[in-house]
Amino acid sequence: MAKRTKYVKPEHREILTAKVLASKPISPNFVRVTIGGAGLGGFTAMGFDQWFRLFMPGKDGSLKLPTSSSSLGWYAQYLVTGKEHRPLVRNYTVREYRPAGSGQFGSTAEIDIDFVSHGDDSPASAWANNATPGDRVGLLDEGITYQAPEHTDFALLAGDESALPGIAGALRSAPRDLRGAAFIEIPHADDAQTLGEPEGVQVNWIVRTDSHGETGTLTDAAVRAASIPAAAAVYGFLAGEQRFVTGLRRHLAQERGIPKADITFTGYWRAGRAAG
Ligand SMILES: Cc1cc2nc3c(=O)[nH]c(=O)nc-3n(C[C@H](O)[C@H](O)[C@H](O)COP(=O)(O)OP(=O)(O)OC[C@H]3O[C@@H](n4cnc5c(N)ncnc54)[C@H](O)[C@@H]3O)c2cc1C
Repeated sequence: MAKRTKYVKPEHREILTAKVLASKPISPNFVRVTIGGAGLGGFTAMGFDQWFRLFMPGKDGSLKLPTSSSSLGWYAQYLVTGKEHRPLVRNYTVREYRPAGSGQFGSTAEIDIDFVSHGDDSPASAWANNATPGDRVGLLDEGITYQAPEHTDFALLAGDESALPGIAGALRSAPRDLRGAAFIEIPHADDAQTLGEPEGVQVNWIVRTDSHGETGTLTDAAVRAASIPAAAAVYGFLAGEQRFVTGLRRHLAQERGIPKADITFTGYWRAGRAAG
């Protein structure tokens, strides 16, 4: 049997340029920024949880993009760029892609990015909160991580608000006959969104308030209490705060007997630690 790799990478790697077309708060804790422009013509939508590195202006306000797009090349260039000019780079997910000609704001392709708005002390969150039409960004497509094996007959997806776009994309692209359950933790009931999930997937919104402690605590408990059909071949997709997803992966592997190869887990951010 072919060994599954961790990601499905895009066939073509290139740092694309785009500009902000629109930006608006869509719920208490999310800001949707739409980017577009002729530069997005080189983007190939892959569906599922397709993610990319987003390059935003550095401390001096300029956008100095690497010229290399190989995984080591762009990062080496980033490191040797003086701190003032270094772009701000963070990872985001395609919430919605509209090809050229079917956009909402113009004739070029468009991508909606749903940013968790977690304060102006965090650079990317602050950028999104203040994004205005015309602001320039760069984008390096990194492909998809959701890879349900062919034998899957039940998918279990769990994440916090940062994974809402990824889970939404996975559920929208998944086969319509998929059975499963999704657990998505959000800070406010109004942060829930329409996901377009297959009929056989039950979506559970888990609303966290300050009294519930750290991100993921409630969802961890909900997944542990969830019933999974006996003898089902389960695929697990976990994304969000690092400690939360690592703990859930351990639970799925050790207590539910799901083979580790059938669990995709990605730490999207770390509580108390900036991305760099
Ligand atoms: C593959 C992938 C896809 C992702 N897709 C999305 C997406 O579509 N939308 C999205 O909002 N995020 C997404 N993320 C997560 C996002 O990259 C991180 O949250 C990132 O750290 C935000 O950068 P920042 O500059 O705002 O904060 P940072 O400078 O990284 O961190 C500053 C502080 O904020 C805290 N922090 C960081 N992220 C969060 C958060 N989400 N909630 C609460 N506190 C936080 C940190 O612990 C730190 O204390 C994705 C991550 C990955 C790996």
